[in-house]
Amino acid sequence: MSSVLVILEIKDRIISRISWEAMAAAHTLAEGRGLPVDIAVVTSPTNPILAKIQGKPPRTIYAVDHKLLHAYTSDGYAEACAQLIAHVKPAYVILPHTYQVRDFAPRLATRLKQVLISDVTGIETHAGASVAPTFIRQLLQGKLNARYSHTGTGVCLLSIQAGAFRADAPEASATTVEPFLPKLEAAQIRIQPGEPFRASAQTVDLGSATILVSVGRGIKEEANLPIVQELATALGAELAASRPICDAGWLPMERQVGSSGQTVAPKVYLAVGISGAIQHLVGMKGSQCIVAINKDENAPIFEVADYGIVGDLFEVVPALTAAVRKVKG
Ligand code: FAD
Repeated sequence: MSSVLVILEIKDRIISRISWEAMAAAHTLAEGRGLPVDIAVVTSPTNPILAKIQGKPPRTIYAVDHKLLHAYTSDGYAEACAQLIAHVKPAYVILPHTYQVRDFAPRLATRLKQVLISDVTGIETHAGASVAPTFIRQLLQGKLNARYSHTGTGVCLLSIQAGAFRADAPEASATTVEPFLPKLEAAQIRIQPGEPFRASAQTVDLGSATILVSVGRGIKEEANLPIVQELATALGAELAASRPICDAGWLPMERQVGSSGQTVAPKVYLAVGISGAIQHLVGMKGSQCIVAINKDENAPIFEVADYGIVGDLFEVVPALTAAVRKVKG
């Protein structure tokens, strides 16, 4: 039986959050197609991280291990994944759209004579096994949604954009780990690994914040920003913004959320005076809990919000800040 194979990525000794989102995408596709999910991680089969893989139990977890994979190279990863795919024979391979995946996945696709449908933000499965699923990706900086289907033969390779899918709620997983030892030779690795990419220390990494307070044009002028900054400080949150706020230079570009800014998926995203244009939504709709404050009850942000407050932010935000301070003592 064919399957959906999801290849998770370890970053800083943990499975990266975007990998869990890729797993959620894999489950969406697998459930729609009636297929089982297999997982692969490039690591030693004895890595305790494997026992912590949670989510709906997969059929098999493959630990792809070889000493030539201990340092990342696109040559090594593409070759090892190609051999794993030949062994597992999945119908679909899903990867998180990380810097590393962007580096090796095109090489893997070329090696398999397939295309890579990259940066996928949505999956539509259709009734009937004969109708190919549709994969959505954005074009022209989010102005257009394009729909792609894989109609050729062979495996379909996909990478999933950060924040596009909500990571599954954790469930205990009792699946056993199967070592997969690819045949690799030193001569196949033609690339010397350099220092892995790290965002500069000055850059705000909104992606790792647990709570984001995000401010939009409803704030009216720069002088009013301390109102939302105070709420962010009280909550222990990072401050983010919609594009007009950054375009105006009221906050630095690195705090912009959206299709031309950062993609985020914090536990709580508090949108203050943000209308909810698609270019903003695509950057934050994967957040676990969205709270919106807007004076317009028809603002599109309420369509994605878990909690909505219809009201004037200049009244609601200071009241919220005072309440948080009171609770925190
Ligand atoms: P507005 O749309 O003006 O909304 C302001 C909201 O505040 C309104 O809903 C209003 O009801 C509310 N409001 C006003 N006063 C109050 C008050 N006193 N109390 C409560 N609510 C109030 N945008 C992004 O955010 N990120 C991107 O990355 C991005 N990329 C883009 C890329 C392209 C190619 C294009 C064309 C656009 C992009 N945009 C992006 C812009 C996007 O289309 C919207 O224009 C933008 O998101 C709107 O920002 P906003 O919600 O802050 O402002």
